[in-house]
Amino acid sequence: MINQPIPKRDRKPSSDLVKPLDIPPGLVETCKKCNERIDKKQLVDNLWVCPKCDHHHRIPAREWLKLLFDPGDYEEFDSNLYTVNPLNFYDSQDYRDRLKSARLKTRLDDACVNARGKIGGMPALVSALDFYFLGGSMGSVVGEKVTRASERALAERIPLITVSCSGGARMQEGMFSLMQMAKTSNACGRLRQAGIPYFSILTDPSTAGVMASFASLGDLIIAEQGALIGFAGPRVIAQTIGGELPVGFQRADFCREHGFVDIVLHRRDMRKIVTRLVRMFTDSMNRALP
Ligand SMILES: [Zn+2]
Repeated sequence: MINQPIPKRDRKPSSDLVKPLDIPPGLVETCKKCNERIDKKQLVDNLWVCPKCDHHHRIPAREWLKLLFDPGDYEEFDSNLYTVNPLNFYDSQDYRDRLKSARLKTRLDDACVNARGKIGGMPALVSALDFYFLGGSMGSVVGEKVTRASERALAERIPLITVSCSGGARMQEGMFSLMQMAKTSNACGRLRQAGIPYFSILTDPSTAGVMASFASLGDLIIAEQGALIGFAGPRVIAQTIGGELPVGFQRADFCREHGFVDIVLHRRDMRKIVTRLVRMFTDSMNRALP
C-alpha cells in the first residue's frame, strides 16, 4: 500500500512550505553561545549559524526540508497523524493541553515532518524532528512517521534521511514511547537488509531514546558541527562515574574521533555533501540490482 502515490489528503503542497519566513525588519536575536545580538534576517540568511561565533542554532524541521531538498521540489506526507493521551498523563499540565500549545506554536501536528522530493535531482525521503515541538521527543506519532518514511523508502527503493534534534523518548507516553525505539530500529534493519541507503543527520541535541534507536543506525552518520550526541547527559554521567569528563565529551568532533560518527559538517556544506551521497548511494544501489 505504501508503494502507492501519496494520497492528496496527506500532502502539503511545496508552494506552502517554501515560503520565506516572514521576519519583520529590525528583529534581533541573541546568540546562545557568544551572546552577541544578531539581526534575525541575517541569522536566517546564514542558515541560522551565528555570523560571529559560528554556533549552529537549532532550526525547525521544515527549515531542514528547505535546506536539503531541491528548491520547491518536495511535498510533505503523513501530515495528518495525531497522538492522544493514552496514559491520561498529567504533570503540571494535562498532556493534551501541552500538545495543543505545541501545535499552535509550531504549526505542526507532532514533532516529526515527513517529506518526499528530489535531492540533486534524485528522489529521496526526509524525516526531520522538530525540537520546538515538546523537545523533538519521540512519542507514538514520531515513531510511526519515521517507520512510515522508512517503509516508503523500502517500497520505492529510494534513500531515507533522518534529521534528529531531540531530547529522547516522550515521557508523557511512557511505554508507548519506549516501544517506538524497537519499532524504528526494526524499520532501519529492514532497509539495511534490502540495501536501501539510510543516512542519519545528528543535530544539536541528538540524545537518549532517539539516539539509542534509529538515529544511530544510519549507513552513514553525519553530525552537525558542535552537536551534543549521546544517551544520558554529561552531568548524569559525571555524577555516576564520580569523575571529570574529557574536554568536548559527547560533542560531534569527540564522537567522530571515537568512531561513533562518520562525518562532521558545517551546516553550509550539508546540502552539497548529502546530495553527493544520495547520488553515489543511489547509483551503487541500482548497479547492485539483478
Ligand atoms: Zn554567536
